[in-house]
Amino acid sequence: MMRRDYGYFEEDQLGKPYDLRLLRRLFPYIRPYSLLFLVSIGLVTAITVLDLALPYLTKVAIDRYIVQDVVDDKPGTSPQQRFYAADLRRPGIEMVVSRYPSLFEIQWPHARIRYEDLSELNKADLADLRRGDYAGVARIALIFIGVVVCHFVFSFGHVIIMEYAGQAIMHDLRLTLFRHIQGLSMAFFTRNPVGRLVTRMTSDVQNMHEFFTSIITVLFKDIFLILGITVVLLLMNWQLALICFLMLPFIFLATACFSRLARDVFRELRVKIAEINTRLQETIDGIRIVQLFLQEKKNYERFRKLNHENYLVGMRQINIFAVFMPVIEVLSSVTTALVIWYGGGRVLVETLSLGALVAFIAYMRMFFRPIRDIAEKYNIMQSAMASSERLFLLLDSQERIADAKISRRMPDKEGTISFGNVWFSYLGRDWVLKDISLTVRPGETVAIVGPTGAGKSTLIHLLERFYDPIKGSINLGGVDIRLIPRAFLRARMALITQDVFLFADTVRNNITVGNPRLPHDRLHEIVAACNLDRLIQRLPHGFDTVLTEAGRTLSSGERQLVAFARALARDPEILILDEATSSVDTETERLIQEATVRVMQNRTAIVVAHRLSTIRHADRIIVLHRGRIREVGSHDELIAKQGLYYQLYQWQGVL
Ligand code: ADP
Repeated sequence: MMRRDYGYFEEDQLGKPYDLRLLRRLFPYIRPYSLLFLVSIGLVTAITVLDLALPYLTKVAIDRYIVQDVVDDKPGTSPQQRFYAADLRRPGIEMVVSRYPSLFEIQWPHARIRYEDLSELNKADLADLRRGDYAGVARIALIFIGVVVCHFVFSFGHVIIMEYAGQAIMHDLRLTLFRHIQGLSMAFFTRNPVGRLVTRMTSDVQNMHEFFTSIITVLFKDIFLILGITVVLLLMNWQLALICFLMLPFIFLATACFSRLARDVFRELRVKIAEINTRLQETIDGIRIVQLFLQEKKNYERFRKLNHENYLVGMRQINIFAVFMPVIEVLSSVTTALVIWYGGGRVLVETLSLGALVAFIAYMRMFFRPIRDIAEKYNIMQSAMASSERLFLLLDSQERIADAKISRRMPDKEGTISFGNVWFSYLGRDWVLKDISLTVRPGETVAIVGPTGAGKSTLIHLLERFYDPIKGSINLGGVDIRLIPRAFLRARMALITQDVFLFADTVRNNITVGNPRLPHDRLHEIVAACNLDRLIQRLPHGFDTVLTEAGRTLSSGERQLVAFARALARDPEILILDEATSSVDTETERLIQEATVRVMQNRTAIVVAHRLSTIRHADRIIVLHRGRIREVGSHDELIAKQGLYYQLYQWQGVL
């Protein structure tokens, strides 16, 4: 199987920023919300149009009402010769005109007056004369406010919809991932440390959320706006527009430089953060060793160094941003200066209206905002692409143990377990189990002993089908366990592992986890058989005491007793017991021994044995050494044989 990596060291591989293949894969997650996305795109389009409208309204206000040009004025005439044309059809205009016959020149339906002569009129007459313009300016101001209000409402709607869709997609993605991870085989978990999977579920999913919310803004708003402004500028005055676009190559150059620098430093920052997380996790995991070996100071030094490096990279990132933003600002100002110089000249010679120049300047300033935005979002896009790549890699991993359909042949009730020439290795390199053949008859107790690393736990993992053998087969009641549905197989076996995992739930729920419908009387019997009654009486709420923090409130011996009770609650015919090696006090040892004997009664039992008592009770003892079965027999037979078992027994007393 190909070895894939989901580790943090991959943080330094960032995806291609706008990889369309990945977008295609994201589509199924987007599809349920496509209506929302469409509405959002609609809103963004409307927002862009409104954005574009504002400078245009200014232009209209100036050109049509504030500085009114006369229709028949020739271009190139000096301001002294420019006329203001009043519409004689409007009420009150004729009155004003009749009061200054020398200033007005009547040319139905207009009365023309030189701009400079306007100052000859008294204030009230001037106001009457230009009443229409006042109304026009007021109307434009109202429209302006209307546009701003609509802009606000649309933007609000857009943000809410995008956030909602982003959150919903993230929610779905997390559920899919959780379901997927839960179904993966042990082999997968052997290779993927918890930290990685946690990162996938948290920060990678979060990145996707940012992606969903920002990509719409970038793709639709910023790019629309840039295109919109370009078109409007070209339509208003193409020569002036081309002059503005002279600066574009410089902007592209600056943006490209910035993106490269920002990407590198961003990458480095992610690696540093991952390193800090790992160090912290290691320290907490190994806190006992750290304290026991007085490593605090050294460990602190290492962390300090890492932290400082992280700070330096962070500062570098800030520097890059601190240079980029003003550079864009300068370019934007230079462009504005160009517009004032060239456009101002055009206004002077009357080939451009004053309103158009003002609008041009406003559009230019608007033009730079989305460019800056896109450059800033570039990093988010990149890390989101990298995250989605990793998420899909995880979702693509099909390392599940295939479950069998309802089988034609179900194993007999009293099933014999048999291993037939089983070979197994975890990573496809060294064999951990070699050619194991073994039969356990119903009701038999078989102990497996052997030095550490001999493969005892592995044998049990295979029987539980956490892994499948590479060669050979394991049968239950004459049927290959690969052909038995897993639910059925697991219902017939109970596994008690070395470190007992307890859920953060009540004692009762921890015991009845495999059989929630266990009658109350039976629960009490089981608790008594497992010597748990005294413990439960001692707990503050008895059966309803919540075992917090993965059962930390119970001692390791007590946890084992809970595990026995849990196994008994399911009443399995086969019991698989990986005895804990941790030593407990003699009293607890006695309680455990008693419980072990009771739990194994009338059951087939396979025990990885470390306790003398279990070995003595076993019908047969299998001695494993480096993955092979070396000896088989009863305690007395094997002692008499004076082989490996005898040696182990001599060395350790208790194996
Ligand atoms: P025992 O239970 O006898 O101490 P195990 O079955 O746990 O031995 O381990 C047998 C060998 O397999 C050891 O060399 C161990 O390093 C290796 N091993 C155990 N678990 C894994 C795993 N999840 N991934 C890779 N190697 C493993």
